[in-house]
Amino acid sequence: MHELSVCQSIISQVLEVAKQNKAKSVFKISLQIGPLSGVEASLLEAAFPIACAGTIAENAKLETELLPIKVRCQICGNENEAKINHLLCSACNSWQTELISGDEMLLRSIELDK
Ligand SMILES: [Zn+2]
Repeated sequence: MHELSVCQSIISQVLEVAKQNKAKSVFKISLQIGPLSGVEASLLEAAFPIACAGTIAENAKLETELLPIKVRCQICGNENEAKINHLLCSACNSWQTELISGDEMLLRSIELDK
């Protein structure tokens, strides 16, 4: 399962931050997920308890937020939000757009118990 390995890499980042801050446990982990990141939020949430079992993040609450897809037009320079299979410029209807957000997955915040 792809989401489990994604989860494990998030948890290892979280545990690293927790260690640096000498935390006793992790309260909450907030993630931002782009629709084009290839990560399914519901699968990630399902994999989360497995990935953090036995760590100080075991009882942490996982929050996921879906990021918008944004494109920049290479013809007119306009930036707008776009739909997953419809990456059009809203100003000039050009298909020649580049993705500027929506394919990333970010660790947004971590709440620690010190
Ligand atoms: Zn345009």
